[in-house]
Amino acid sequence: MADIIHLLPDYLANQIAAGEVVQRPASVVKELLENAIDAKATQIQLLVKEAGKQLIQVTDNGVGMSETDARMSFERHATSKIKNTEDLFRIRTMGFRGEALASIAAVAQVELKTKTQNSETGTRLVVEASEVVLQEPVAAPDGTSFVVKNLFYNVPARRNFLKTNAVEMRHILDEFQRVALANPEVAFTLYHNDVEVFNLPAGKLSQRIVSLFGNNYKEQLALCEEDASFVRIRGYIGKPEYAKKTRGEQFFFVNNRFIKSAYLNHALLTAYEGLLPKESFPFYVLFIDIAPEQIDINVHPTKTEIKFEDEKAVYAVVRAAVRQSLGLHNIAPSLDFEQDVNFAPLQPIRTMPETNSFERAEARPAAGFNGSRSKPGNTQNWEMLYEPVRQERQVVSSRASSLPDSVEFGDQPETLLQNATQKTNTKTLQVHQKYLMVQVKSGVMLVDQQAAQERILYEKYSMALQKKNATSQQLLFPQTIQFSPMDYVLVQELAEEFTALGFQFSDFGANTIIVNGIPADVPNSNEKELFEGLIEQFKQNRTDMKLEMKENLARAMAKRVAARLTGRLNDVE
Ligand code: ADP
Ligand code: MG
Repeated sequence: MADIIHLLPDYLANQIAAGEVVQRPASVVKELLENAIDAKATQIQLLVKEAGKQLIQVTDNGVGMSETDARMSFERHATSKIKNTEDLFRIRTMGFRGEALASIAAVAQVELKTKTQNSETGTRLVVEASEVVLQEPVAAPDGTSFVVKNLFYNVPARRNFLKTNAVEMRHILDEFQRVALANPEVAFTLYHNDVEVFNLPAGKLSQRIVSLFGNNYKEQLALCEEDASFVRIRGYIGKPEYAKKTRGEQFFFVNNRFIKSAYLNHALLTAYEGLLPKESFPFYVLFIDIAPEQIDINVHPTKTEIKFEDEKAVYAVVRAAVRQSLGLHNIAPSLDFEQDVNFAPLQPIRTMPETNSFERAEARPAAGFNGSRSKPGNTQNWEMLYEPVRQERQVVSSRASSLPDSVEFGDQPETLLQNATQKTNTKTLQVHQKYLMVQVKSGVMLVDQQAAQERILYEKYSMALQKKNATSQQLLFPQTIQFSPMDYVLVQELAEEFTALGFQFSDFGANTIIVNGIPADVPNSNEKELFEGLIEQFKQNRTDMKLEMKENLARAMAKRVAARLTGRLNDVE
């Protein structure tokens, strides 16, 4: 039998290897940004078009490459960062495997321009599908610029696998944000489709946090520092009262590399214990410095997991650091979690049992109630009646201080309802401006007014989003709203849907929009709050429920608008 084993051609071997390193445009962004950091750049510009599908360009003012190095850099296992085994265990740079450029060049069209400080001219190199198509001298500033075009142009299966621009752009922003946080002493700019998204001056970590997340973070941050012999923690944590309903803004960096760790996150949360409102997530950006020997470097660099030699010790130090920080800043437990953005379970109607199940044996039984006093009541059903009330209370107690502590039925509800409805001549009674009691054949229905409103609005907004037929009311005084860069990208992403709902707004530059109109039937006070709440709700729904965009927006809108409507109703309502 003839020999059948042969070596794979380079382009194919590289394409296969690329599968691991380059999953999407954001992977390219990450590798190029990290290379620029490793090259000691102090200014880095990222430019993307069509969420990186069409173009990704990273320009830095770092050390640059010689003519030969420029060519070498695209070879697999070509790196300037390690030479021997010892280096491997001392590694401090972001990359070291020498795989990234080879992988990128296997699945895209790449142009490199680079110049070192002590050479007269620079080098320009064009690489396509792992082939150098051109190398020539070129006039260039010190530093390096990579242009990566048409990612996966030669691997259609992978190109088709890419998500919408909105999703791919979010991944890019995530990577950008992580690198920017880890390197506040480096200035960054980011342009998407020629629009400036970020312009981050070099500065301190606190300044970087504020320029990434918004000015209102200034008062939310508490410094967090701890020095143990083998590990050092530094960074900022968010004061508990600013904890958000969305998990997004939590960052651990180990030796300046972003990592995800459920274990360390747990350490942090236990330090916050008792201080956080339910279902909310504190902000944190924490840097853990540890001797490289203490972590497993064989964990793949493109993965965000990490292994510590002594995991428990790191856990303890993180928790101690956060505790200390929370204590130092004299943060008392706060119950004032104003902005509730939970989506209350859609559960508007519950039939009230009218039999003896209503009685609770151990609690004060209503005298003569169905004449069943002596019987041990079916407490389970009885409890069920209070279920929506209790659930609602959990959610709502944070929303309005004017709410009753409990909804109690001292009298038999039916009698109560009869008495009341006789006076008002209706079949419905409003309780505490929160619940509707309705007489039905089988007994009495208790309707959670807000949940019902929400349900109705949800149907309406779903329809509007499908048919794009909502009407608007013009604002007398158009309002400008400034967003954090991340949220601004989201607003742009959702622009078409917002319009379908009846919002009218236009771009005002600098992450700002100007709102001219809102949906016709929304009470028009504080449009800014409505819009911001909507975005916050949308983000929360996205993380919690992984909802499809329109479904999410319809729910978010219903929730926010219903929150504005509750209160006294007239008969027609
Ligand atoms: P690694 O970063 O793991 O070494 P890469 O494929 O990312 O592998 O890069 C290969 C080499 O190319 C790097 O080791 C570095 O010497 C050089 N290089 C890449 N990007 C830059 C840059 N922006 N500036 C200077 N040198 C760079
Ligand atoms: Mg690299």
